[in-house]
Amino acid sequence: MYTERKGILTVVSGFSGAGKGTIMKKLLQAYPDRYALSVSATTREPRPGETEGREYFFVSTEEFEKMIDNGALIEYARYVNNYYGTPKAYVEQMLSQGRDVILEIEIQGALKVKEQLPDTLLLFITPPTAQELKERLVGRGTEDIAAIESRLSRAAEESQGIEAYDYFVINDDLDACVSQIHGIIEGEHFRVNRNHHRIYEMRQELNSFVK
Ligand code: ADP
Ligand code: 5GP
Repeated sequence: MYTERKGILTVVSGFSGAGKGTIMKKLLQAYPDRYALSVSATTREPRPGETEGREYFFVSTEEFEKMIDNGALIEYARYVNNYYGTPKAYVEQMLSQGRDVILEIEIQGALKVKEQLPDTLLLFITPPTAQELKERLVGRGTEDIAAIESRLSRAAEESQGIEAYDYFVINDDLDACVSQIHGIIEGEHFRVNRNHHRIYEMRQELNSFVK
């Protein structure tokens, strides 16, 4: 066999409440050796049940700005009054080990990553309807009504940017959605333009047989 396959960097975005966190948990449980989920830094307060280093690295604004200045983030964005950013070191390390790395980030960050790393796969996740989105946000019970309204307004803005993504995935049945996402990423590995190194190696070997 030729060179091991390279890890794919995938950005998963979607309206707050679409189910991204829930989907990622299931995907990682189903394929623990395959995927690595990047843990972002944020200045927002932890929600009940969130653990430092698992959902996020919770940092102060000063600490966050220091990370920006030190070039420690691949990208960062402000989202509803807080900073969110992707630490660079972990992503680079996992990709170099051949893991498929997932960034669960919002649209401004997604576009910045794509600009820097054009091979990045962009997936957008939505619930089946906007009404269902509102119900999921209310049902999650982690934000008050004012914060839910800010997130719904932000969703309306974000919906304008969906065409920049490669895939549009509807999270209706959770298990179906998890396997669709896995299928999309798996399929990406077979693209010719993600296999140039192996094609080159096969050509080299074939050429050695040419008399
Ligand atoms: P996000 O990370 O995109 O903000 P969450 O993963 O926190 O969204 O999900 C928002 C709420 O919707 C949670 O209460 C979650 O349990 C629920 N949820 C997620 N996926 C589904 C689904 N397929 N069907 C019904 N409810 C869902
Ligand atoms: P939440 O507060 O609901 O956890 O996240 C709010 C939004 O920030 C979500 O759309 C989430 O995907 C996004 N987000 C989380 N981490 C990052 C990050 O590192 N960078 C960017 N740009 N967005 C992020």
